[in-house]
Amino acid sequence: MTQRAYFDWNANALLRPQARAAMEVALDAVGNASSVHAEGRSVRALIEKARAQVAALVGAAPKDVTFTSGATEANTFALTPLIGAPPRDRLFVSAVEHPSVLCGGRFSKDKVEELPVDDDGVVDLAALAKAIARADRPLVSVMLANNETGVVQPLARVAPIVHAAGGLLHVDAVQAPGRMACRIDELDADFVTLSAHKIGGPQGAGALIRRGDRQLDPLVKGGGQERGLRGGTENIAAIAGFGAAAEACATFWREEASRMASLRDRLEAGLHAVTPDAIIFGARVTRLPNTTFFAVPGVKAETAIIAFDLNGIAVSSGAACSSGKVQPSTVLKAMGVAEDLVRGAVRVSLGHSTTEAEIDMFLQTWKLLLGPLLRERRGLAA
Ligand code: PMP
Repeated sequence: MTQRAYFDWNANALLRPQARAAMEVALDAVGNASSVHAEGRSVRALIEKARAQVAALVGAAPKDVTFTSGATEANTFALTPLIGAPPRDRLFVSAVEHPSVLCGGRFSKDKVEELPVDDDGVVDLAALAKAIARADRPLVSVMLANNETGVVQPLARVAPIVHAAGGLLHVDAVQAPGRMACRIDELDADFVTLSAHKIGGPQGAGALIRRGDRQLDPLVKGGGQERGLRGGTENIAAIAGFGAAAEACATFWREEASRMASLRDRLEAGLHAVTPDAIIFGARVTRLPNTTFFAVPGVKAETAIIAFDLNGIAVSSGAACSSGKVQPSTVLKAMGVAEDLVRGAVRVSLGHSTTEAEIDMFLQTWKLLLGPLLRERRGLAA
Protein backbone atom coordinates (compact mmCIF):
# COMPACT_ATOMS: atom_id res chain seq x y z
CA MET A 1 0.00 0.00 0.00
CA THR A 2 1.25 3.49 -0.78
CA GLN A 3 2.22 5.67 2.13
CA ARG A 4 -0.75 7.39 3.72
CA ALA A 5 -1.08 10.34 6.07
CA TYR A 6 -4.07 10.55 8.41
CA PHE A 7 -5.48 14.00 9.15
CA ASP A 8 -8.90 13.16 10.53
CA TRP A 9 -8.19 12.91 14.25
CA ASN A 10 -11.30 14.93 15.16
CA ALA A 11 -13.39 12.12 13.64
CA ASN A 12 -11.35 9.36 15.24
CA ALA A 13 -7.99 9.39 17.00
CA LEU A 14 -5.51 6.53 16.63
CA LEU A 15 -5.66 4.00 19.43
CA ARG A 16 -2.99 4.76 22.03
CA PRO A 17 -0.70 1.83 22.90
CA GLN A 18 -1.70 2.18 26.57
CA ALA A 19 -5.35 1.72 25.58
CA ARG A 20 -4.59 -1.30 23.42
CA ALA A 21 -2.64 -2.92 26.29
CA ALA A 22 -5.44 -2.30 28.80
CA MET A 23 -8.01 -3.68 26.36
CA GLU A 24 -6.03 -6.85 25.80
CA VAL A 25 -5.93 -7.48 29.54
CA ALA A 26 -9.66 -6.77 29.83
CA LEU A 27 -10.53 -9.10 26.94
CA ASP A 28 -8.95 -11.94 28.85
CA ALA A 29 -10.85 -11.17 32.03
CA VAL A 30 -13.51 -13.70 32.95
CA GLY A 31 -16.69 -12.75 34.74
CA ASN A 32 -19.46 -10.23 35.00
CA ALA A 33 -18.71 -7.14 37.07
CA SER A 34 -22.00 -7.60 38.92
CA SER A 35 -21.07 -11.08 40.18
CA VAL A 36 -19.86 -11.43 43.74
CA HIS A 37 -17.25 -14.14 43.10
CA ALA A 38 -13.54 -13.41 42.68
CA GLU A 39 -13.80 -13.34 38.88
CA GLY A 40 -16.61 -10.83 39.01
CA ARG A 41 -14.74 -8.69 41.52
CA SER A 42 -11.63 -8.56 39.35
CA VAL A 43 -13.70 -7.35 36.39
CA ARG A 44 -15.31 -4.79 38.69
CA ALA A 45 -11.81 -3.62 39.65
CA LEU A 46 -10.99 -2.96 35.97
CA ILE A 47 -14.07 -0.76 35.63
CA GLU A 48 -13.34 1.14 38.83
CA LYS A 49 -9.73 1.73 37.77
CA ALA A 50 -10.97 3.18 34.47
CA ARG A 51 -13.54 5.29 36.32
CA ALA A 52 -10.80 6.82 38.46
CA GLN A 53 -8.64 7.46 35.37
CA VAL A 54 -11.46 9.19 33.49
CA ALA A 55 -12.43 11.18 36.60
CA ALA A 56 -8.82 12.33 37.05
CA LEU A 57 -8.68 13.57 33.45
CA VAL A 58 -11.35 16.19 34.23
CA GLY A 59 -10.72 16.59 37.97
CA ALA A 60 -13.99 14.94 39.01
CA ALA A 61 -14.79 12.40 41.72
CA PRO A 62 -14.86 8.80 40.37
CA LYS A 63 -18.40 8.28 41.71
CA ASP A 64 -19.59 11.07 39.42
CA VAL A 65 -18.51 9.30 36.21
CA THR A 66 -21.16 7.24 34.39
CA PHE A 67 -19.93 5.15 31.47
CA THR A 68 -21.99 5.10 28.28
CA SER A 69 -21.66 3.75 24.75
CA GLY A 70 -20.17 7.04 23.57
CA ALA A 71 -20.70 10.77 23.55
CA THR A 72 -23.91 10.60 21.55
CA GLU A 73 -25.48 8.54 24.32
CA ALA A 74 -23.94 10.73 27.03
CA ASN A 75 -25.40 13.85 25.41
CA THR A 76 -28.83 12.23 25.13
CA PHE A 77 -28.52 11.08 28.75
CA ALA A 78 -27.75 14.65 29.86
CA LEU A 79 -30.28 16.57 27.79
CA THR A 80 -33.52 15.81 29.55
CA PRO A 81 -35.93 17.91 31.63
CA LEU A 82 -35.34 15.56 34.56
CA ILE A 83 -31.66 16.37 34.85
CA GLY A 84 -31.32 18.35 38.04
CA ALA A 85 -34.09 19.01 40.52
CA PRO A 86 -36.46 20.78 40.01
CA PRO A 87 -37.00 19.76 36.35
CA ARG A 88 -35.69 21.98 33.56
CA ASP A 89 -38.31 23.78 31.49
CA ARG A 90 -36.23 24.71 28.42
CA LEU A 91 -33.05 23.65 26.66
CA PHE A 92 -30.70 26.14 25.00
CA VAL A 93 -27.97 24.88 22.69
CA SER A 94 -25.42 26.81 20.69
CA ALA A 95 -25.99 26.68 16.94
CA VAL A 96 -22.59 25.02 16.39
CA GLU A 97 -23.14 21.98 18.63
CA HIS A 98 -22.69 18.41 17.49
CA PRO A 99 -25.92 16.94 16.00
CA SER A 100 -26.35 14.78 19.12
CA VAL A 101 -26.85 18.02 21.10
CA LEU A 102 -28.60 20.05 18.40
CA CYS A 103 -31.38 17.46 18.21
CA GLY A 104 -32.29 18.33 21.80
CA GLY A 105 -31.97 14.97 23.53
CA ARG A 106 -35.15 14.09 25.38
CA PHE A 107 -36.70 17.58 25.29
CA SER A 108 -39.69 18.05 23.00
CA LYS A 109 -38.80 20.13 19.92
CA ASP A 110 -40.81 23.16 21.08
CA LYS A 111 -38.71 23.39 24.25
CA VAL A 112 -35.36 23.59 22.45
CA GLU A 113 -33.85 26.91 21.38
CA GLU A 114 -30.69 27.55 19.39
CA LEU A 115 -28.30 30.28 20.48
CA PRO A 116 -26.59 32.27 17.70
CA VAL A 117 -22.83 32.45 17.23
CA ASP A 118 -20.77 35.27 15.72
CA ASP A 119 -18.67 35.18 12.51
CA ASP A 120 -15.91 33.34 14.38
CA GLY A 121 -18.26 30.68 15.72
CA VAL A 122 -18.24 32.01 19.27
CA VAL A 123 -21.55 31.89 21.12
CA ASP A 124 -23.26 35.28 21.46
CA LEU A 125 -23.23 35.95 25.21
CA ALA A 126 -25.78 38.78 25.10
CA ALA A 127 -28.18 36.54 23.16
CA LEU A 128 -27.57 33.75 25.70
CA ALA A 129 -28.40 36.02 28.65
CA LYS A 130 -31.51 37.37 26.93
CA ALA A 131 -32.78 33.94 25.85
CA ILE A 132 -32.39 32.16 29.17
CA ALA A 133 -34.07 35.03 31.01
CA ARG A 134 -37.29 33.83 29.34
CA ALA A 135 -37.01 30.42 30.99
CA ASP A 136 -37.65 29.53 34.62
CA ARG A 137 -35.17 26.68 34.96
CA PRO A 138 -32.98 26.54 31.87
CA LEU A 139 -30.57 23.82 30.83
CA VAL A 140 -27.82 25.17 28.59
CA SER A 141 -25.49 23.08 26.43
CA VAL A 142 -22.39 24.78 25.04
CA MET A 143 -19.45 22.75 23.82
CA LEU A 144 -15.88 23.35 24.93
CA ALA A 145 -14.25 23.10 21.49
CA ASN A 146 -15.87 22.69 18.11
CA ASN A 147 -15.24 19.49 16.19
CA GLU A 148 -15.13 21.24 12.81
CA THR A 149 -13.39 24.58 13.42
CA GLY A 150 -11.65 23.80 16.72
CA VAL A 151 -13.01 27.11 18.06
CA VAL A 152 -13.00 27.19 21.87
CA GLN A 153 -16.08 28.65 23.54
CA PRO A 154 -15.67 31.24 26.33
CA LEU A 155 -17.09 28.98 29.03
CA ALA A 156 -15.59 31.11 31.80
CA ARG A 157 -18.09 33.74 30.67
CA VAL A 158 -20.92 31.39 29.75
CA ALA A 159 -21.06 29.57 33.11
CA PRO A 160 -21.70 32.64 35.33
CA ILE A 161 -24.49 33.81 33.01
CA VAL A 162 -26.15 30.38 33.12
CA HIS A 163 -25.82 29.96 36.86
CA ALA A 164 -26.96 33.51 37.64
CA ALA A 165 -30.20 32.65 35.80
CA GLY A 166 -30.69 29.53 37.91
CA GLY A 167 -29.62 27.35 35.00
CA LEU A 168 -27.56 24.19 34.68
CA LEU A 169 -24.66 23.96 32.25
CA HIS A 170 -23.82 20.88 30.18
CA VAL A 171 -20.53 20.94 28.28
CA ASP A 172 -19.76 18.59 25.40
CA ALA A 173 -15.99 18.46 25.91
CA VAL A 174 -15.39 15.59 23.47
CA GLN A 175 -12.73 17.38 21.40
CA ALA A 176 -10.82 18.97 24.27
CA PRO A 177 -8.83 16.38 26.27
CA GLY A 178 -5.28 15.92 25.04
CA ARG A 179 -5.47 19.30 23.31
CA MET A 180 -6.32 21.80 26.05
CA ALA A 181 -7.05 21.99 29.78
CA CYS A 182 -10.40 20.41 30.58
CA ARG A 183 -11.31 20.40 34.26
CA ILE A 184 -14.92 20.32 35.34
CA ASP A 185 -14.41 22.79 38.21
CA GLU A 186 -12.48 25.28 36.09
CA LEU A 187 -15.17 25.06 33.42
CA ASP A 188 -17.74 25.56 36.18
CA ALA A 189 -19.84 22.98 34.34
CA ASP A 190 -22.54 20.89 35.98
CA PHE A 191 -22.18 18.07 33.44
CA VAL A 192 -19.43 17.12 31.01
CA THR A 193 -19.51 14.65 28.10
CA LEU A 194 -16.44 12.73 26.92
CA SER A 195 -15.84 10.16 24.18
CA ALA A 196 -13.09 7.51 24.30
CA HIS A 197 -12.31 7.38 20.60
CA LYS A 198 -11.43 11.06 20.37
CA ILE A 199 -8.67 10.72 22.94
CA GLY A 200 -6.97 7.52 21.79
CA GLY A 201 -9.37 5.01 23.27
CA PRO A 202 -11.72 2.68 21.40
CA GLN A 203 -14.93 3.58 19.59
CA GLY A 204 -18.12 2.82 21.48
CA ALA A 205 -17.29 4.17 24.94
CA GLY A 206 -17.96 7.52 26.53
CA ALA A 207 -18.99 9.10 29.79
CA LEU A 208 -21.29 11.64 31.31
CA ILE A 209 -19.61 13.25 34.29
CA ARG A 210 -21.52 15.27 36.82
CA ARG A 211 -20.27 17.70 39.38
CA GLY A 212 -21.20 16.70 42.90
CA ASP A 213 -24.69 15.48 43.56
CA ARG A 214 -26.47 16.77 40.45
CA GLN A 215 -29.53 14.67 39.69
CA LEU A 216 -29.54 12.43 36.62
CA ASP A 217 -32.35 10.67 34.77
CA PRO A 218 -31.28 7.29 33.35
CA LEU A 219 -31.66 6.88 29.61
CA VAL A 220 -30.96 3.15 29.59
CA LYS A 221 -32.68 1.42 32.49
CA GLY A 222 -32.08 -2.15 33.50
CA GLY A 223 -30.10 -4.21 35.93
CA GLY A 224 -28.85 -1.41 38.14
CA GLN A 225 -25.37 -1.12 36.62
CA GLU A 226 -23.50 2.18 36.92
CA ARG A 227 -25.22 2.89 40.26
CA GLY A 228 -28.59 2.53 38.56
CA LEU A 229 -27.78 5.25 36.06
CA ARG A 230 -27.02 3.11 33.00
CA GLY A 231 -28.32 -0.42 32.72
CA GLY A 232 -26.63 -3.21 30.80
CA THR A 233 -23.56 -5.38 31.29
CA GLU A 234 -20.54 -3.13 30.96
CA ASN A 235 -18.32 -3.12 27.87
CA ILE A 236 -15.24 -3.97 29.92
CA ALA A 237 -12.61 -3.84 27.18
CA ALA A 238 -13.86 -0.50 25.84
CA ILE A 239 -14.08 0.98 29.34
CA ALA A 240 -10.58 -0.23 30.25
CA GLY A 241 -9.21 1.23 27.00
CA PHE A 242 -11.01 4.51 27.69
CA GLY A 243 -9.44 4.68 31.17
CA ALA A 244 -5.93 4.03 29.90
CA ALA A 245 -6.33 6.59 27.11
CA ALA A 246 -7.60 9.13 29.66
CA GLU A 247 -4.54 8.57 31.85
CA ALA A 248 -2.17 8.93 28.88
CA CYS A 249 -3.97 12.14 27.86
CA ALA A 250 -3.74 13.58 31.35
CA THR A 251 -0.01 12.74 31.47
CA PHE A 252 1.09 13.91 28.04
CA TRP A 253 -1.39 16.55 26.88
CA ARG A 254 0.78 19.61 27.47
CA GLU A 255 3.70 18.40 25.37
CA GLU A 256 1.40 16.85 22.77
CA ALA A 257 -0.63 20.05 22.46
CA SER A 258 2.44 22.23 21.97
CA ARG A 259 3.86 19.82 19.34
CA MET A 260 0.53 19.83 17.50
CA ALA A 261 0.37 23.65 17.65
CA SER A 262 3.74 24.01 15.94
CA LEU A 263 2.82 21.43 13.29
CA ARG A 264 -0.51 23.20 12.75
CA ASP A 265 1.34 26.53 12.37
CA ARG A 266 3.68 24.93 9.81
CA LEU A 267 0.67 23.61 7.92
CA GLU A 268 -1.15 26.95 7.92
CA ALA A 269 1.97 28.92 6.91
CA GLY A 270 2.52 26.48 4.02
CA LEU A 271 -1.13 26.65 3.03
CA HIS A 272 -1.01 30.45 2.88
CA ALA A 273 2.25 30.39 0.96
CA VAL A 274 0.67 28.23 -1.77
CA THR A 275 -2.80 29.78 -1.62
CA PRO A 276 -2.70 33.30 -0.13
CA ASP A 277 -6.48 33.55 -0.51
CA ALA A 278 -7.10 30.49 1.73
CA ILE A 279 -9.57 31.32 4.49
CA ILE A 280 -9.04 29.57 7.81
CA PHE A 281 -12.28 29.53 9.76
CA GLY A 282 -12.08 30.69 13.38
CA ALA A 283 -8.46 31.80 12.98
CA ARG A 284 -9.09 35.10 14.80
CA VAL A 285 -10.16 33.43 18.06
CA THR A 286 -8.85 30.75 20.41
CA ARG A 287 -8.78 27.39 18.65
CA LEU A 288 -7.63 23.87 19.42
CA PRO A 289 -3.96 23.39 18.50
CA ASN A 290 -4.74 20.51 16.13
CA THR A 291 -7.49 21.78 13.84
CA THR A 292 -7.40 23.73 10.56
CA PHE A 293 -10.71 24.16 8.76
CA PHE A 294 -10.13 26.07 5.53
CA ALA A 295 -11.54 26.94 2.14
CA VAL A 296 -10.07 28.39 -1.01
CA PRO A 297 -12.48 30.28 -3.27
CA GLY A 298 -13.16 28.18 -6.34
CA VAL A 299 -12.19 24.82 -4.82
CA LYS A 300 -14.96 22.31 -4.14
CA ALA A 301 -14.53 20.25 -0.95
CA GLU A 302 -15.96 17.04 -2.34
CA THR A 303 -13.49 16.95 -5.22
CA ALA A 304 -10.59 18.07 -3.01
CA ILE A 305 -11.22 15.36 -0.41
CA ILE A 306 -11.41 12.63 -3.05
CA ALA A 307 -8.27 13.94 -4.76
CA PHE A 308 -6.42 14.04 -1.43
CA ASP A 309 -7.58 10.51 -0.68
CA LEU A 310 -6.34 9.20 -4.03
CA ASN A 311 -2.99 10.76 -3.17
CA GLY A 312 -2.78 9.03 0.21
CA ILE A 313 -4.13 11.78 2.44
CA ALA A 314 -7.18 11.47 4.69
CA VAL A 315 -8.93 14.78 5.33
CA SER A 316 -12.61 15.58 5.77
CA SER A 317 -15.25 18.17 5.10
CA GLY A 318 -15.93 18.71 8.78
CA ALA A 319 -18.22 16.44 10.72
CA ALA A 320 -18.03 12.74 9.85
CA CYS A 321 -21.40 11.85 8.46
CA SER A 322 -22.96 8.41 8.74
CA SER A 323 -24.05 8.50 5.09
CA GLY A 324 -20.42 8.80 3.99
CA LYS A 325 -21.40 11.80 1.85
CA VAL A 326 -19.66 15.17 1.92
CA GLN A 327 -22.29 17.38 3.56
CA PRO A 328 -22.09 21.18 3.76
CA SER A 329 -21.15 22.24 7.27
CA THR A 330 -23.99 23.47 9.50
CA VAL A 331 -21.32 25.02 11.74
CA LEU A 332 -20.08 27.28 8.95
CA LYS A 333 -23.65 28.12 7.97
CA ALA A 334 -24.34 29.19 11.57
CA MET A 335 -21.23 31.40 11.36
CA GLY A 336 -22.73 33.12 8.30
CA VAL A 337 -20.04 31.86 5.90
CA ALA A 338 -20.92 32.32 2.21
CA GLU A 339 -22.38 29.23 0.50
CA ASP A 340 -19.49 28.94 -1.99
CA LEU A 341 -16.95 28.77 0.84
CA VAL A 342 -19.09 26.36 2.88
CA ARG A 343 -19.06 24.01 -0.12
CA GLY A 344 -15.28 24.30 -0.29
CA ALA A 345 -14.43 23.72 3.36
CA VAL A 346 -11.81 21.08 4.13
CA ARG A 347 -10.84 20.05 7.68
CA VAL A 348 -7.33 18.92 8.52
CA SER A 349 -7.04 17.63 12.09
CA LEU A 350 -3.79 16.44 13.65
CA GLY A 351 -3.03 14.11 16.51
CA HIS A 352 -0.35 13.19 19.00
CA SER A 353 1.59 11.06 16.52
CA THR A 354 1.34 13.38 13.49
CA THR A 355 4.80 14.09 12.06
CA GLU A 356 6.46 16.99 10.27
CA ALA A 357 6.96 14.69 7.26
CA GLU A 358 3.20 14.16 7.08
CA ILE A 359 2.58 17.92 7.14
CA ASP A 360 5.07 18.34 4.31
CA MET A 361 3.39 15.52 2.39
CA PHE A 362 0.08 17.35 2.78
CA LEU A 363 1.55 20.62 1.52
CA GLN A 364 3.27 19.01 -1.47
CA THR A 365 0.03 17.26 -2.42
CA TRP A 366 -1.93 20.49 -2.04
CA LYS A 367 0.46 22.22 -4.44
CA LEU A 368 0.04 19.38 -6.90
CA LEU A 369 -3.77 19.27 -6.70
CA LEU A 370 -4.50 22.96 -6.70
CA GLY A 371 -4.28 23.62 -10.44
CA PRO A 372 -6.53 20.70 -11.45
CA LEU A 373 -8.98 21.50 -8.62
CA LEU A 374 -9.36 25.11 -9.71
CA ARG A 375 -9.71 24.10 -13.38
CA GLU A 376 -12.35 21.54 -12.42
CA ARG A 377 -14.31 24.26 -10.68
CA ARG A 378 -14.16 26.55 -13.67
CA GLY A 379 -15.48 23.71 -15.81
CA LEU A 380 -12.30 23.41 -17.87
CA ALA A 381 -10.57 20.18 -18.76
CA ALA A 382 -7.96 19.38 -16.13
N1 PMP B 1 -19.72 15.61 20.33
C1 PMP B 1 -18.71 16.03 19.55
C2 PMP B 1 -18.22 17.43 19.70
C3 PMP B 1 -18.14 15.17 18.62
O1 PMP B 1 -17.13 15.59 17.85
C4 PMP B 1 -18.64 13.85 18.51
C5 PMP B 1 -18.06 12.87 17.50
N2 PMP B 1 -17.94 13.40 16.22
C6 PMP B 1 -19.69 13.45 19.35
C7 PMP B 1 -20.20 14.36 20.24
C8 PMP B 1 -20.26 12.04 19.29
O2 PMP B 1 -19.33 11.15 19.83
P1 PMP B 1 -19.51 9.56 19.73
O3 PMP B 1 -18.89 9.18 18.42
O4 PMP B 1 -18.70 9.02 20.89
O5 PMP B 1 -20.94 9.25 19.84
